[in-house]
Amino acid sequence: MNYAIRCEEVTKVYSIGKGYQITALSEVTLSIPRASIVLIKGPSGSGKTTLLSIMATIEKPTKGRVFFLDKEISGFSESALARLRRQYVGIVFQDFNLIPRLPAWENVSYPLIPLGVRTSERKERALQLLEKLGLGSRVLHTPEQLSGGERQRLSIARALINNPVLLFLDEPTSNIDHATAEYIIDLLMKLREQGKTIILSSHDGELIAKADRVFKLSSGRLEDDT
Ligand code: ADP
Ligand code: MG
Repeated sequence: MNYAIRCEEVTKVYSIGKGYQITALSEVTLSIPRASIVLIKGPSGSGKTTLLSIMATIEKPTKGRVFFLDKEISGFSESALARLRRQYVGIVFQDFNLIPRLPAWENVSYPLIPLGVRTSERKERALQLLEKLGLGSRVLHTPEQLSGGERQRLSIARALINNPVLLFLDEPTSNIDHATAEYIIDLLMKLREQGKTIILSSHDGELIAKADRVFKLSSGRLEDDT
């Protein structure tokens, strides 16, 4: 009870045409306590991104049940799931998913548009967050004009703009410089202190050491590796 997320025997099968199927997750059961950092590790192709996507309500399981803030969401419509995401979820995708040619502040404040926040307030909140993430001098830069580490911080700022209780990060410290990785690890610890639940995939030994729980996926099966 009182979990951030709970998966019960979650299976995900992708159909890729001509009756060919890939089982990305097999009967995964896990509980994520609130205000914790939970890390999923496992080799490439083991199902990490699929599991994060299901917990973040982007993907639906083929079988099994998902409880989101103690509410079962298995039967939810796409629009109901989108509402949950807007209100409670921040996601940092592996490829950042930033909008090309839009300045940093507009990328960061984009999730506030469907919430009806007016432009002046969107801009103010974006500037505050960019400042906090050390990007105060990059407000008008487009994603293409930023380094990998700066893009990663920009995508974290965007994930935090709606003050989500759940933050998902897919391999947040791979492909970035060491200083940014250290910075991100410190930031995640602070966010946990503020009561946020942080769920991430990673191979990073330093992150693994800081996590409250560690799970390992191999070929879509989960083991507790704390
Ligand atoms: P990881 O993040 O650990 O590398 P993924 O969750 O991305 O693993 O992928 C798990 C398995 O599911 C892989 O075999 C991958 O090819 C397959 N897969 C992932 N997404 C899709 C998709 N949209 N369609 C078909 N197969 C997919
Ligand atoms: Mg992945």
